[in-house]
Amino acid sequence: MGDELRVRLYRQAPLPEADLRVEEAAGSGGRPAEEPGPGEVRLRVEACGVCRTDLHIVEGDVPAHTLPVTLGHQVVGRVEAVGSGVELAPGTRVGVGWLASACGSCPACRSGRENLCPEARFTGYDVDGGYATTMTARADFTYPLPDPLGDAATVAPLLCGGVIGYRALRLAGVLDRPIGRLLLIGFGNSASIALQVARGLGWECHVATRSETHRDVARELGAAWAGEEPEPDSVDAAIVFAPTGRLVPVALRAIVPGGAVACAGITMTDIPSFPYALLYRERVLRSVANATRRDALELLELAARFGVRSEVETFPLREAREALARLAASELRASAVLVA
Ligand SMILES: [Zn+2]
Ligand SMILES: [Zn+2]
Repeated sequence: MGDELRVRLYRQAPLPEADLRVEEAAGSGGRPAEEPGPGEVRLRVEACGVCRTDLHIVEGDVPAHTLPVTLGHQVVGRVEAVGSGVELAPGTRVGVGWLASACGSCPACRSGRENLCPEARFTGYDVDGGYATTMTARADFTYPLPDPLGDAATVAPLLCGGVIGYRALRLAGVLDRPIGRLLLIGFGNSASIALQVARGLGWECHVATRSETHRDVARELGAAWAGEEPEPDSVDAAIVFAPTGRLVPVALRAIVPGGAVACAGITMTDIPSFPYALLYRERVLRSVANATRRDALELLELAARFGVRSEVETFPLREAREALARLAASELRASAVLVA
């Protein structure tokens, strides 16, 4: 095989049967590399996180928008070539996340909610992503990465799990007040990043999870409380990371009047009915969908300032299928990241 590789999905199916191919890409064997179009950059990919959404796309839990497609939407790379109208200097390290583009003119875009744009296109889903040695992206949807963030593999999980956790902080009201008490229900990588940011901002963090290991990690990261069942009326805001609808009334019960619960997952089992008293007194229940460029830029800046850490397990790019299989089997100790 040549130097340039990409991992493309040709047909959705449960992982053992999915047609996911490691193949040569443009630029191999003396063939020319893909040239970025106007407003685009070509990146030399250094690392790309493996997200559960990638698994949903492979296995057909979400319908494919275009096939074949190169997966991957938590990309750290260096600018290698730029199209016309792009000012980014070659060598600049940037990140690319789930939002590949938005229309810029619809009511959602004009009101600062490009994450809800009906014309939004997504990286590694509508357009080719970062399970590759190079990729092209819209320059205005890339994020310059502050230097103190650290090496590419540990930065990658910030670009999806981190940003979604940060948007959940915003929707739960954590960014509106300098102090408060936040409950995180479920404690994977996204929650761990959210905890570190919320602590940095001055909030006290509580973590409810069935996993004793996760409770230990939460305490190490400074959680004031970690347990299984949160106390009623004990926090000002809550984020439900676990995809378990039964936990929504638990979260509502835990927040004080005027508090908010944000559900950060893209899927969730049914929410059982609950008494109106759990919502009354101006409590708010809402979900999070995607994230805006502002969310990403703010999160990256805060992550650099607070020294936010992610635990990662790296895999060579050509072992993408193995990484996805380990994720599917819940066998990963940390966030999987593919490295070139
Ligand atoms: Zn993702
Ligand atoms: Zn729009």
